[in-house]
Amino acid sequence: MKFKQQPDKKILKYIPLGGVGDVTRNMHVYEYGGEIMIIDCGIGFPDETMPGVDILIPDISYLQNKKDRIRGILITHGHEDHFGAIPYVLPKLGKVPVYGAPLVKGFIKAGLEDRANIKDADLRTVDPDGGAFNIGPFEISPFRMNHSIPDTLGFVIRTPVGLIVHATDFKFDWTPVDKKPFEVAKLARLIEQGILALFSDSLGSQTEGYTQTERGIEDSFDRLLDGAKGQVLITTISSNISRMEQAIRSSLRHNRKIVLLGRSVAERVLIAEQLGYLKFPKNIFVKPRAAQGIPDKQLTYIVAGCYGQPGSGLWRIADGAHRDVQIKEGATVVFSGDPSPPGVKNNVDAVVSRLTQLGADVHYYEIQENLYVSGHGAQGDLLMLAAMVNPKYFIPIGGGPMQTRAYKKLVSRLGVEPQRVFELEAGQSLGLGPDFARLGKKISVRNIMVDGYGIGDVGRTVLRDRRALSESGILVVFVQLDSGTGKIAGKVELISRGLVFEKSSKGLLDKFKNIVVGVVEKHKGRRKDHAFIREKIEEELEQYIYDKLGRTPMIIPVLIEV
Ligand SMILES: [Zn+2]
Repeated sequence: MKFKQQPDKKILKYIPLGGVGDVTRNMHVYEYGGEIMIIDCGIGFPDETMPGVDILIPDISYLQNKKDRIRGILITHGHEDHFGAIPYVLPKLGKVPVYGAPLVKGFIKAGLEDRANIKDADLRTVDPDGGAFNIGPFEISPFRMNHSIPDTLGFVIRTPVGLIVHATDFKFDWTPVDKKPFEVAKLARLIEQGILALFSDSLGSQTEGYTQTERGIEDSFDRLLDGAKGQVLITTISSNISRMEQAIRSSLRHNRKIVLLGRSVAERVLIAEQLGYLKFPKNIFVKPRAAQGIPDKQLTYIVAGCYGQPGSGLWRIADGAHRDVQIKEGATVVFSGDPSPPGVKNNVDAVVSRLTQLGADVHYYEIQENLYVSGHGAQGDLLMLAAMVNPKYFIPIGGGPMQTRAYKKLVSRLGVEPQRVFELEAGQSLGLGPDFARLGKKISVRNIMVDGYGIGDVGRTVLRDRRALSESGILVVFVQLDSGTGKIAGKVELISRGLVFEKSSKGLLDKFKNIVVGVVEKHKGRRKDHAFIREKIEEELEQYIYDKLGRTPMIIPVLIEV
């Protein structure tokens, strides 16, 4: 048992709390000799089984009793699924320094002030063009990669057991919008001594070929704007700074000023502009209110909501409920976002349909003439990095089980044996030594849901109630009981929402009432035991409604003593 007395001394422990087995909610923990470095701290997005939940954040239970050993959080780039959870997580970890390039540092600072009211966080700047720096026992050398936002960084990390490369979200683009291509030569220098493990993006591992350059998109914008005579609305995700820059440049060439709609869009563009990432002539931005006095053909609206998110700017415009913008016949609406992230198609379709009915010419995913290229590398890009880095071990990250499996197959083309590729899931640790890699313990990682101002207080019960409400509605039963005899006094009243239309279902509602009266009669002896009577009413109504309607509404019996 000698091994046990020397726990993990010479081992680099890697444990993903998110971002592995899952595309979003990135949080990668590297641990050596009891010291911890975290890469990324992002949010995730709820699926349709979590109604009303705003976002998901990583489960940091694993870190709770190790706070004093965390040397830093290093952020790769300015996408919400990589840094967005910092305002929720940092207050729980104490005064841990956060490292990021200037752009993401600007976003983090704004997020901390807005959402956590923290103004004195220890934020440190990573110079993308600078040299190595240390976080605990790790020496970090950044290199530039391409993605859909400037300053996306990969890291070569010198650890006591060997060099590793952490390359999340990347593609190779030799003509990117910010004119800063993937730093291949710098990376080649950094990896000369041989690499123990490559942690690589795997999201595009099912897509053949190479991801196209961003450059063509601007020509597509130009073509659309050439033909646009009226309103123009362009929507993309607020974190796609490169796309917004292209939309703005094309608009300026067409003598259109810019209206930024939606707080997320405005905040991101203005921070990027202040920090010098976006350079435009003065006075090109017009406030939404002021836009009403300017002819349509002199404006481009950049709007949040390219995934058709309910409540977003574009959604409200499509709904005819936006304060500042009403769609007119002949408007041009351009979607320039990922055409097919999971779970959003229905929402996008609904928004596109409504915009079309309002008379807009909508360019969306089905008829998207080169209006989108992925920020993630396809098979060619992934193979290029894998071949170049040529590590002993491969850990595909940033993808679900399908993508990690496809990545494994992909690198087998380079002659990589399956046992050198580790398909992990959240909570599954990996131990790395100078000449070995092996699976370690698996901890359980929960979904931490953020709903409005509450963090982690939405559990399974709340979700079940919300699903019941959204699927089958609610039935409230008021029963007046005589405080002396315990008998029903007066009428049984029912209020339902989303279950049946009360006016046309009188027979059914009368039946419900009879059931309630029957329950109270049947349990004469226990009439004073309100909890018991409530439970019985709920049970019997539930059974009847399920048999009759196949539905399971939320039933709330209210007993009132009179
Ligand atoms: Zn990203």
